[in-house]
Amino acid sequence: MTETEAEKYLEDLAEQNGLAIVLVDETSEISASNNNSICENLYSSAEFAPHCAMFCGLAFAEATQEGKTISRHCHAGLNYQALPIKAGDRQLVAITGRTFLHSEDYRKAADRNISGDWKQFSGEELFKNIFLSSSENEIEQLTRRLEKLNEEQREALGNIGRREAVEVVEEPTEELPRQVSPDEEISKLIEQFHQNKVQLAIEQTSEKNTRELEDLAAWRSLFSSLLSLNYREACISVAEFIAKRYQLTNLAWLENKKNVLESVWGNGNLSGQQIQIGIPAEDTRLKDALKKETSLELRERKNAQSVENLQKIDLFPIAVGGKIRSALAVSDEISDSEVKRHIARFVRQVASELEILRLREEINRHALTTQAVNRLNQMLRKIDSEEFWLVLAQFIAELMNAERGSLLIYNEENKEFTVKAAIGNSADVIKHEKSVNIGERIAHNVLRSGRPLVVKDLKSSDIMPAPNDWKYKTGSFISYPIVVGGRKIGVLNVTDKVDGSSYDESDLDILHTLAPQFAVAIDHTALISKVDKFEQLSMTDALTGLLNRRYLEVRLNEEINRSQRHGYPMCFMMVDVDEFKSYNDTFSHPEGDKALQMVGQCLKSTLRGADVAARYGGEEFSILLPQTTLREAVMIAERLRERVATTRFPNRQVTISIGLANCSAEFCNANELISAADRALYSAKTKGRNRVEVYQRD
Ligand code: GH3
Ligand code: MG
Ligand code: MG
Repeated sequence: MTETEAEKYLEDLAEQNGLAIVLVDETSEISASNNNSICENLYSSAEFAPHCAMFCGLAFAEATQEGKTISRHCHAGLNYQALPIKAGDRQLVAITGRTFLHSEDYRKAADRNISGDWKQFSGEELFKNIFLSSSENEIEQLTRRLEKLNEEQREALGNIGRREAVEVVEEPTEELPRQVSPDEEISKLIEQFHQNKVQLAIEQTSEKNTRELEDLAAWRSLFSSLLSLNYREACISVAEFIAKRYQLTNLAWLENKKNVLESVWGNGNLSGQQIQIGIPAEDTRLKDALKKETSLELRERKNAQSVENLQKIDLFPIAVGGKIRSALAVSDEISDSEVKRHIARFVRQVASELEILRLREEINRHALTTQAVNRLNQMLRKIDSEEFWLVLAQFIAELMNAERGSLLIYNEENKEFTVKAAIGNSADVIKHEKSVNIGERIAHNVLRSGRPLVVKDLKSSDIMPAPNDWKYKTGSFISYPIVVGGRKIGVLNVTDKVDGSSYDESDLDILHTLAPQFAVAIDHTALISKVDKFEQLSMTDALTGLLNRRYLEVRLNEEINRSQRHGYPMCFMMVDVDEFKSYNDTFSHPEGDKALQMVGQCLKSTLRGADVAARYGGEEFSILLPQTTLREAVMIAERLRERVATTRFPNRQVTISIGLANCSAEFCNANELISAADRALYSAKTKGRNRVEVYQRD
């Protein structure tokens, strides 16, 4: 075996096992096969390389000192083993695995990338090649393969990365012998399958027929193609594979959405059916089915319209790390319990592959949302009110891939909607349609209920269809209520997805994320254009024009709820003008007022469109920063502080101190968050003023 072949061998072995193999000597890494992309990214960053040095960096020393394989769980939540290998005259250590054993660790990694200390890495790069294993056994097996290398193979490994590589006489590699008995072929395939984590096939060695062989080949190709599909495609191809394999015609794929399994795809008599199955927390039946490798049999509920034609379905749960993520439903009669066992085991095998795809998409979606938030923020800053509504409606339509969209603003007094902007095909019809009572069919209800309405297909809903001349292309739309501080602001509608597909609940995520931004922007603009000055006064502060304390507190409670419900980051600041009593005493109260106005102006011009600045009272201001991590908030606070400190005031220099608090699970209402920021402010004062302090738990 040559050195190149040895490298190829490691590469194949690593890929077949779906794990990484990294060879190190006492000074450095000499080869990395199928390396985990998280390791690659962290190791090449100045910030995290020192952490990696404490784990994989010590692998050589630890494994050679122990003289045997060691197992570790690293700072990134990955598991690996390190095996000493005597490679000719060279001592090497093979690091194997670098895989997530617990879905919790994986989730944590995703969270760190989405809103934590790994935010600096592109999600796509970070999660390009990662692994999830069901148990340490999988790493163990790979380590054992390496342990069993013969002397010659080990010697070849020793030559990797060595400049004066010695060419070894070429040996035939592990190819399939040309003439093999079916028996041998099956065992060969089974071994490959085993490596590919398809253990299902192993049990079937007794039926050595061509059919079986074809199945094995088909499985293998399904597996190798799964990770190149998107999540939905992968789920469908798994379902279709099972349908073909067991001659089933009525299958559906269900996704766990907040503990309700909901159908997202179906064929046969399950096509187009909206199945919903709640998973009560205390119900262990699905977990039992998982454990016993069978299905959960569900009978049709009386009067359940949606499952009208169903006698019974078999539900095969799909779990990762003990949590049920999705399920396959079959309404064909499966009498053979062996078949059920096969299906149950098959879906178990694909669960971690599917989870990788699902999370990969979640991360991508998050990256897109973050981009959208930033874009919106920039846009809101520049916007002048003339065009405001149109630009906002365009932004939303683009974001939601909608051909049509409209923004309706509600007037509390006459209980009517005004169309502020409408875009897309026949937009003018809506805008000038006098005969139609705007919002009569949908918007009024949506705003009243405060809950968004997602209609996948108008025809199968009980909503009155649109007048024909509105020319909707599809029957699918979203109608989303915008409510601020308990006040009903308006409704935004998107219709006709560009690709012709229909909207579903997953499209709401991005609206939930951006809704606070929309709300503030719309509220401000609507407020500015309000004729009724009285209403303005009830929410704003007369001296600075900022929002007032009463408004802020209501908004703050809403934002805290939203942040905790959806897991968004959010921060809050208290700002106090330094030594302001002496400013008043020296230069008079009216001069003090002017200075306060200027401070208010500094805040307005420094903050982003969606931030909510309020005059909290006296010379104190407070700022709510939705969708903002602590790291970003610190930067913004610094910018504010500097802005005031470098502004020329008429009489003397004015500075501010800022206390900052991060909305975490610790705070469940506005008062608690305000008092945390207050305490940080106090500490900024005692540390000398003109500075920013972050709230620290004692
Ligand atoms: P520090 O916050 O740095 O500890 O000192 P300070 O002098 O600012 O102390 P404190 O917060 O106790 O004093 C607040 C002063 O701000 C009291 C009052 O003179 C002034 N102030 C409060 N509200 C207004 C206002 O609406 N207009 C004016 N001109 N002054 C105000
Ligand atoms: Mg004060
Ligand atoms: Mg003060």
